[in-house]
Amino acid sequence: MNDYFISANDFDAFVSKMVSERKVVGPKAKQTKFVFGDINSSEELRLDYDVTILPPKKVFTPPCQTLVTFDGTKFDGAVDNEPVVLFGVHFYDIKGLDMTDQLFSENNKDINYTAKRKASTIIGSNIQNVSTRAFWGTIGTETEPQGHDGFVTKIGSGYHYQSCNQKGEDLIAYGNFQAATPEQVEEARKANEEMMTKCPEKLSHSSEAIQKKVRASFKNEKLWTQLAEDCFSCGSCNTTCPTCYCFDVQDKWNLNQVSGMRNRYWDSCLTEDFAKCSLGGGLEENFREKRGERFRHRFMRKAAYLNEKLGGPACTGCGRCSSSCTADIADPVTVINKIMEV
Ligand code: SF4
Ligand code: SF4
Repeated sequence: MNDYFISANDFDAFVSKMVSERKVVGPKAKQTKFVFGDINSSEELRLDYDVTILPPKKVFTPPCQTLVTFDGTKFDGAVDNEPVVLFGVHFYDIKGLDMTDQLFSENNKDINYTAKRKASTIIGSNIQNVSTRAFWGTIGTETEPQGHDGFVTKIGSGYHYQSCNQKGEDLIAYGNFQAATPEQVEEARKANEEMMTKCPEKLSHSSEAIQKKVRASFKNEKLWTQLAEDCFSCGSCNTTCPTCYCFDVQDKWNLNQVSGMRNRYWDSCLTEDFAKCSLGGGLEENFREKRGERFRHRFMRKAAYLNEKLGGPACTGCGRCSSSCTADIADPVTVINKIMEV
């Protein structure tokens, strides 16, 4: 782990050189919001973003991903392992990627995900502007972001850059980096620490207390029915979430009815059909037919079920679900604080 400093002027030249030699994905403006997309110039990179519409999981599991192709005689894998530098990821999204790293690597490892992940370099960046629904300052504080290769922090006279491993160190070659002074290292530490108090929304209890109470509320059907009363079952709270990863698999046949491809698509446990199963003989069953059951499932996953496996809640506090929910009922802070009061 090494600490570097680069001046603001040199930083632009660094980004220009890096994007000329590597495929870089980072935060960029899209009308009044921000998205992760291909970066082709230093002007495009917007490290002053508050939050992106979709999390960077789309780099490793795109909304539609071809898993295999077939031609009637054999299957061919469709693993995408093109190297990419994912630059400018806020710490809460680094946590989200670390969770999906764990979940896609357990049991039957998902090679489409892990191959792309292995080929990637992830560089974090400090939060310069806070989104209106963020609450990352009060959730999952027991776990540290990990799995990234470097981290850049804007400080008064330029940028502090910390390389975490060789992948992070390799980027130094693109810019005029100097060894950071102890004062610059301290300035970066303070900038990141002070930002933790700036979230507009706050959870009022520890993750451990929340886990126990949310789990204990499972049988309170009246509560979950009330919480989900205005739900449209649209699934936006799932698709915008950095830790939701469920998918549906479908085969697409070419017109010759011999060749084609097997794709996976993002799926959402809040939608009506998610838990619908065939029983054979033309019969079917939906084991989470009611909105309240689906709404409860999402909160059990975020706050209770996955905690043991991940070392903390499967929610990073990004606030994307809150701002994407038309009915404005998906906000984990509102829902969890209410459950804690019951
Ligand atoms: S975004 Fe809101 S309305 Fe849509 S499924 Fe989620 S909770 Fe329901
Ligand atoms: S549940 Fe909402 S706040 Fe939590 S990680 Fe998912 S989108 Fe972000």
